[in-house]
Order: sequence, then C-alpha cells, then structure tokens
Amino acid sequence: MITLKEALKLSKEELSSLKEELKAKIAANSELNAYIDVLNVGEGIPIAIKDNIQVTGWSVTSGSNILKGYIAPYNATVIEKLLAANMSPFGRTNMDEFAMGSTTESSCYGKTFNPLNHNCVPGGSSGGSAAAVAAGLAVAALGSDTGGSIRQPAAFCGIVGMKPTYGRVSRYGLGAYASSLDQIGPMTQNVEDAAILYDIIQGYDPKDSTSADRNDGTVSDKLDSNVKLKIAIVPEYVKDASEDIRNAYAKVVEALKNAGHTIVEKSLMDPKYDISAYYITATAEATTNLARYDGIRYGNRVEGDNLKDTFLQTRSQGFGAEVQRRIMLGNFVLSSGYYDAYYVKAQKVRSLIQEEYNKIFEEVDLILTPVAPRTAYEFGALSDPLEMYLSDIYTISVNLAGLPAISIPVDTATNGMPVGLQLIAAPYAEQILFNGALSLETQLKGQLS
Ligand code: GLN
Repeated sequence: MITLKEALKLSKEELSSLKEELKAKIAANSELNAYIDVLNVGEGIPIAIKDNIQVTGWSVTSGSNILKGYIAPYNATVIEKLLAANMSPFGRTNMDEFAMGSTTESSCYGKTFNPLNHNCVPGGSSGGSAAAVAAGLAVAALGSDTGGSIRQPAAFCGIVGMKPTYGRVSRYGLGAYASSLDQIGPMTQNVEDAAILYDIIQGYDPKDSTSADRNDGTVSDKLDSNVKLKIAIVPEYVKDASEDIRNAYAKVVEALKNAGHTIVEKSLMDPKYDISAYYITATAEATTNLARYDGIRYGNRVEGDNLKDTFLQTRSQGFGAEVQRRIMLGNFVLSSGYYDAYYVKAQKVRSLIQEEYNKIFEEVDLILTPVAPRTAYEFGALSDPLEMYLSDIYTISVNLAGLPAISIPVDTATNGMPVGLQLIAAPYAEQILFNGALSLETQLKGQLS
C-alpha cells in the first residue's frame, strides 16, 4: 500500500481512484473483519478510524450493542484536524467492546483476524485498525491506547503504533474508557508516517480539560535518524517474555549500539504491581464513564414511533461479558468499604511508577522494552480473563505514567509472526522518541538489505 508520505503528493483524482481501489480490496478481504463499515468524508487521504472516535453522521458504537443506532452528532477534535489537513475519515475499524481487551474478540461485530495468520488474534483493542494497515487495507489508521491498545496490536500485526504523551492529543470525541489513561494515536506502515499523522492530530484543545496547553511544534519535519541517544535497557524486566521476544531484544540492543547509541542498564519495578494498579484504576474510571449508557439514552430507538420511544437494550443485554465484568470490578474497588484498600492504594502505586520513570529519564533519553510477553496468540488462548490482563505487563505502566511510546516491528519469531518492541520517552519528548524510532528502523533495514 502507498505510504502516507507518498499519498500527500496525490492529486484529487488520484485520491479518488485510491479510495475506489481500497474499497475493492476491503471487500475482497472482508473475512478479516478489519472494518465494520466503509464510509468516506471529504476528498482527502483516506484514514481508517477506530469505532470509538466521533465522526459526524456516522454510527459510532465502540464495538458495543448498547450503542447500536446511535449516530454521532459531532466530530472529535482529531477528526476536525484530519479534515483540515486534507485527510478523510474512511471507514470505522473493529475493536474490543469499549476498548476493553487485548485480542479484538469481544466486539459485538465478531472478531477480527490477524492478516498474517488467520488462526491468530490481531491484538487489541485497536485490532481492526492494526489489521487494516497490515493487510494493505488502509494507508494509515487512528487507534486509542489506554493500556497498550495501539502498541500491542501494532506489534502483533507488524506495523508501527504510537501512543502520545497524556494530554498531547485531544480526547474530545473519544469514547471514554479510562479518562486518565486514554490517548488517541497513529497506526502506520512506518515511523515517518506515524510522525506525520501525529503532527496532524496533536495540539492543545480547550474542549478537553486535560489537554496540555503547550506548543512544542511539529516533529516530522525535524526527524533525525543520526542523533546519538542514551537508551536504557531493562534485562531483569524482560525475563518474563518468550524466547523469541528475548532474542529480538538482544538483536535490537546490538542494532542500537551499531547505530552509535549509548546503552545503559536500568531496572523497573515488578510489573505485577503495574497490573494491579492499572486494573483498579481503569475499571474504576470505566464504571464511572459507562454509567451514562443506562439503556435510556443513546441509540436503539424504535424509529418512527415517538410515543413509544422505547429502547431495546437493558444494560445486561447491551453490554458484553467483559464489559460487565469490568463494571462490577470498578464498582467493587470504589465501594466505601474497599476504597482505601484498593483505589487509594492503586493511586499510590501509580505515583511510585511515575517517580521511577522520572528518575530514569533524568539520565537517559529512551527506554527499550518489549510490547507484549509473546507474539500474536492463537484464538482462544487467553480465555481466562486474568491471563489476558497479565498479558498487558509491558504496556500499562506507560499509560499510568502518561508517557509517549512507540511500537516498532523489529523481527520475525520462529512461528513466523512479527515481534514488536517499544521505545518509551519522557513526557513531551516526542521528537526524541521519533528520532530514536527512525534510527532503529533505519538500522534494522540496513541489516536486512
Ligand atoms: N488490554 C488493556 C485493557 O483491556 C488495554 C486496553 C486499551 O489500551 N484500550 O484494559
């Protein structure tokens, strides 16, 4: 598929034939179930949109039955920004219901398949966006990342996925999962495309009270793969990953050294604390956010009969099993008897995680870690929800600390599936993050050719 950078040079006519080509290709690959709907707004470069980002006039459902029939009455800020940059929201992509999950199996539209092996999950929750880009069914896509949902499906499908610093990209118009963790970000074919799309969607937005009021400028015009950085590796932390991931990690450390970067060893706290702090915080916030889906507002109107403006779904019919589980967990950790024991403690752990990262970033520019402990799982492999939660060990601390991070495909495992690793930077250090990522991508390309 043509890259985003190349697409920037296309004429109106060429863009419209690109869209026709894409539609045909999406129809020919419909068994992947990457897209829920193919739609188009405007005459710009087509960008696939995760089904939790508001686009005026589209049915936007966060992969949930409870939102079926709801039509978005406004554009998310990121959509306004895409349109202003001559890009077209082009189809909504499949996702785990309300972005809760790591496999894209919990969508009310059925699961999405990994384009590289149909027996495997594409990762989640932005699995539709990742599969679309990996299968050549999208030039680029937007996803959202609360605890890894951009970076992990990117790694599972062999593409680039980037989560910006918390507050860098407006959340206005993003279907909320956990508001203190959610960020929208680019999912692309390469690092440069991710930088281009990041530049378009980032920036202060008065409509989002958590938006960072700062202007650090654009990154894609200043990309520099020749910078020499100090990069921390975390050998102890990597030990829980599979052999394939550990091998790739070792290879990448060599590649980074060859590119002239300085490598230093650091340690990070046991990720079991990240899991506890994350699943308490995320479910507590989700419970609060999902309270608005009460079965009375949003969607599912019986049309044409105002008197019987009935709604078809009760909450227990409208929400799937995973969402219900999280609502219950969230209510439990917020209940008066347990609030101090769980929620307050989780916030303390969150502060410790932030402090630990701050300390490392006093000394280094980037940290290299795995994205997931394994490559893409076979369907059904994570049927126990707790096992699925544990698979998030490497991504969630980044959200708890609000840091920017990028997942880059670096190797192929013995089973033929891609291995992705991530670089993590200090808050608002996106330029350094993209420079390091481009340096690594360039170095790995050189090794292959
Ligand atoms: N897998 C994690 C969860 O289920 C992260 C999901 C996400 O980033 N949206 O909460």
